Amino acid sequence: MRRKTLVLATGNEGKIRELSSLLRDLPLRILTSRDFPEVPAPKEVGETFFDNAFLKARHWALATGHLALADDSGIEVDALGGAPGVRSARYAGPEATDEDNIRRLLEEMKGVPRENRTARFRCVIIVYHPSGRWIKAEGVWEGLIAEEPRGNQGFGYDPVFLPVEFDFTRTVAELSPETKNRFSHRGRALAALREMLPEFLRGL
Ligand code: IMP
Repeated sequence: MRRKTLVLATGNEGKIRELSSLLRDLPLRILTSRDFPEVPAPKEVGETFFDNAFLKARHWALATGHLALADDSGIEVDALGGAPGVRSARYAGPEATDEDNIRRLLEEMKGVPRENRTARFRCVIIVYHPSGRWIKAEGVWEGLIAEEPRGNQGFGYDPVFLPVEFDFTRTVAELSPETKNRFSHRGRALAALREMLPEFLRGL
C-alpha cells in the first residue's frame, strides 16, 4: 500500500505526542496542522464531540488535500449534568489554562461526596478523506473526580481524574504515558480506529 499522508488536526502538544505514538506502526506519513500555518483553524462550534471532530477533520482534509484525523474529547462529570463536556478546554473561560479549568472544576465539585463524583473522558475521532469518505471511532474512560490535583504527567484534567482501573487510587497524571495510552478514551478510540483503517485506506 502506498504511504498516504495523514494530517493530525491539532496543535496540542500532549495530543500530538499521544496520537503519533499510537499511530506509529501504520503506513502513514504523519503531519500536523502546524505544518500548514497558512490554513486558519475552524471554530469548534459543535454541540457534540462528534460535530466538532467531524467539522475539524473535514476542514483540514479539504484545506490540505490530505487525509485528516481530528479528535474531539473532554470530560463529562455526572454531578454537573455532563459539564464541562464539549467545553472542557475552555471551562474557566476562553483563555483558560489547564490549571484554571481544574480550579473551576474542583470549585464546582466542592462538597460533592465520593459516590457522586463519577465522570468519564470521552473521545470521538473522525478520519476524513478529501473525496468525502470518512470513518468514526469512539472511546470512553470511566473514573472519579479527585478532591485535589496530584501528579505531573499528561495534560488537561489528568491530575484530577481517578480511573476505575487503579481502584481510584491514582490520578492519570501519576501514570506513565504507556499506561495512559493503554486505557485512555483516546487510546480506546484509536484502537477501534486502527481496526477500521486498513480497509478504509484500501478503499480510497
Ligand atoms: P479538544 O482539544 O477540543 O478536544 O478539548 C479537549 C479538552 O478536554 C482538553 O483541553 C482537556 O482539557 C480535556 N481532555 C481531553 N483529553 C484529555 C486527557 O486525556 N487528559 C486530560 N484532559 C483531557
